[in-house]
Amino acid sequence: MVGAITIKRNISLKNLTTFKIGGRAKYFTEIVSKKQLIQVLRWVNKKKLPFFVLGNGSNVLFKDDNYSGLVIKLNNSTINCHQNKTLTLGAGVYLPELLQKCVKNEWGGLEWAAGIPGTIGGAVYGNAGAFGHEIKDRVIRVTTIDPVNFIEKSYYSRQCQFGYRTSVFKQLSEIIWKVELAITPEPQSNIQQQMIANLASKQVLLKYASAGSVFKNVLIQETPYRNSYNPKTQEVKILNQRIKVKGGKVSAGWFIEACGLKGKKCGKAMIAPFHANVIINLGGAKADEVIYLIELCQRMVWKKFKIKLEVEIIII
Ligand SMILES: Cc1cc2nc3c(=O)[nH]c(=O)nc-3n(C[C@H](O)[C@H](O)[C@H](O)COP(=O)(O)OP(=O)(O)OC[C@H]3O[C@@H](n4cnc5c(N)ncnc54)[C@H](O)[C@@H]3O)c2cc1C
Repeated sequence: MVGAITIKRNISLKNLTTFKIGGRAKYFTEIVSKKQLIQVLRWVNKKKLPFFVLGNGSNVLFKDDNYSGLVIKLNNSTINCHQNKTLTLGAGVYLPELLQKCVKNEWGGLEWAAGIPGTIGGAVYGNAGAFGHEIKDRVIRVTTIDPVNFIEKSYYSRQCQFGYRTSVFKQLSEIIWKVELAITPEPQSNIQQQMIANLASKQVLLKYASAGSVFKNVLIQETPYRNSYNPKTQEVKILNQRIKVKGGKVSAGWFIEACGLKGKKCGKAMIAPFHANVIINLGGAKADEVIYLIELCQRMVWKKFKIKLEVEIIII
């Protein structure tokens, strides 16, 4: 016990991620209040321990070795709506639960997030997005806690340095504590219809243990093929094939599939036969097996296309 918080020892990380992979954490705690968070941060500072902030673990691969620090799972999940225009959310709010409330209360603007099994804190950290939308389009302000001096800090959207699957929070060690989002009032049936359609396209993926897309899609301007990009047709010519470009990117899965890696297995890890940018855990996969497949994709895609695939998931 540290103050009013329980710090558990030697906790398996497997069941704390959607990948269902990983060793054990030396220390683990769950946090609801700011007071609790500051208490544990004081404790790790005193013990000079590393710490890792966990949302719902849907974008994380924990290695098979044990983590020698404290894993802090954020469960602050308050949802407050102001004048039907903005929401103030605890970082631990689980997106599927938020979306249910969006339907019920006719809060529009987050329909694209249907089927993303993460927290709002994790979504802001990596600027989660789907179907041409990103969380940055809705963020007004993010409040963090500095783990060194425990001061609350505030970042307006333009200060968050949002980019494709990135934000300033990837460079800072601050903990996202609160997120303010803009919503648009929308008839319930519209919201529901859009969510059902978006969710349907993720149904197969949601059946398996995974961390979603493993690699970032490839920005065509950063490849040797940029000169063959035709903005009118939104196509790029790669090795004599015309490939669709969406938002300036070609799907990482296309390159992996073109290397013949779809369905490739290593132990109990497999490059999904239904989506080459996803690695699935067939049951009991090791992190090392996933990492082998990640490196194989990177090696083969580089060899064939001279393109460096950038890993999107967080490996700890
Ligand atoms: C089936 C499936 C579908 C998916 N679909 C999509 C998709 O369409 N689009 C998309 O962008 N992603 C998608 N993902 C990936 C993932 O769900 C998102 O990235 C999600 O936003 C991660 O949230 P999380 O709470 O699970 O974060 P975690 O996985 O717990 O953490 C991810 C990173 O964020 C950091 N972090 C989390 N919370 C905080 C916080 N409060 N403060 C500071 N740092 C924090 C962690 O330290 C870690 O580095 C999918 C994943 C799965 C399994």
